[in-house]
Amino acid sequence: MTLTVTGLHASHGATRALRDVSLDVEAGQVLALVGANGAGKTTLLHCIAGLHRPDRGRIKLHDGEITGLPAHVVAHRRLCLVPAGRQLFADLSVADNLRVGLHGLDLTGTAEAARTDRVYELFPILREFTDRKAGLLSGGQQQMLAIGRALVREPEVLLLDEPSLGLAPMLVTQILRTVSGLAADGVAILLAEQNAAAALQVADQGAVLENGRLTRLDTAAALLADEDVSRHYLGNASAEDEALPDRPERRLPAGLDRLFR
Ligand code: ATP
Repeated sequence: MTLTVTGLHASHGATRALRDVSLDVEAGQVLALVGANGAGKTTLLHCIAGLHRPDRGRIKLHDGEITGLPAHVVAHRRLCLVPAGRQLFADLSVADNLRVGLHGLDLTGTAEAARTDRVYELFPILREFTDRKAGLLSGGQQQMLAIGRALVREPEVLLLDEPSLGLAPMLVTQILRTVSGLAADGVAILLAEQNAAAALQVADQGAVLENGRLTRLDTAAALLADEDVSRHYLGNASAEDEALPDRPERRLPAGLDRLFR
């Protein structure tokens, strides 16, 4: 198993944010983590990425324990977080934001250019806007850049926190198709989303987080078909949900299959 979380408890002061959460994500799989506002999704992703120290429990990457390691050490193990709200450097150009992602990797200039180029192949609009300040990009382009900044590190595990938030339905589809394509290329993906319908449609497995507890862990298909889940999380089927009528085909654009090899 690529990523394994066992019995994780975490809190923010007196607020208990996670209670005994266990899950795992395999290479090539998307696990959709769904739940309402405040359920604990961000806290779980932050614990895994080394941004929040859990109270108890274990996080393993392959066979190595990463529980409590600082974020920069975790990132060097090819586990990357695409944070909620994108967290780009608004005054830096697209190219410079990608350079931030490359920080500390100690690559040659040629290798850095090759990694950046692969992101531009995946999101051609970013190549067009390479000198534009990130703050001047649209929400969708910013999300592509936030994902690109993680991809230049060639992650084995990618944690995505609400990538669809605030995006138009077409862009939600595009972003989630890309996520699905990355999994097809071998990346293990943990996708936290309030847009449960859209997330479950590109996922293999789904986990439902309620008040810090995992209440369901099943195949995405089973959760999509489940009446309870449907009532609580898929009930407000929106335009976004309708934009993904079928499970998108899992393939990256030609030539990108080497991205993570
Ligand atoms: P959202 O989608 O709103 O980000 P979430 O599912 O990601 O929700 P978390 O942000 O992990 O949930 O929050 C879990 C719980 O921890 C909530 O009760 C929240 O109010 C609380 N919490 C999160 N961050 C902090 C903080 N910095 N200080 C105090 N409480 C916090």
